[in-house]
Amino acid sequence: MNKPCKNCNQGFEITDDDLKFLDKVSPVFGGKKYEIDPPTLCPQCRQQRRLAICNEQFLYPGECGMCKKRTITEYPPHLNKPIYCRECWHSDKWDSADYGKDIDLGSYKQCQEFKKIRKEVEKKSLFQGISGPQFARFFR
Ligand SMILES: [Zn+2]
Ligand SMILES: [Zn+2]
Repeated sequence: MNKPCKNCNQGFEITDDDLKFLDKVSPVFGGKKYEIDPPTLCPQCRQQRRLAICNEQFLYPGECGMCKKRTITEYPPHLNKPIYCRECWHSDKWDSADYGKDIDLGSYKQCQEFKKIRKEVEKKSLFQGISGPQFARFFR
């Protein structure tokens, strides 16, 4: 199947194997299968959209929400994202299941709930940890 990309209008192919894969990974909850629709964007536009929320260029000073130590973070201060330093993030001092909620899968409201949870729940300050000497140099 050939489709035009909804963003750039370039044609791209969706193979039978792609459709089989989407069918295979479509989740089943409570015996109901939630079909994943075929993509409407070409692979390059999908990649651009995925990378648009990644910050791999800028670091900011921050404070761990648990131990209150200074740390570095990929989240700019004006976003007011709650963060945990690497040690606290990987510790047993907190339980991510505390943020668990019952949600209505398959509804628009579920997307809004997910957005709200994503904003409120603590983030790991950095996606990649920085080793000791590099970390010390940052705070000189
Ligand atoms: Zn495209
Ligand atoms: Zn901490």
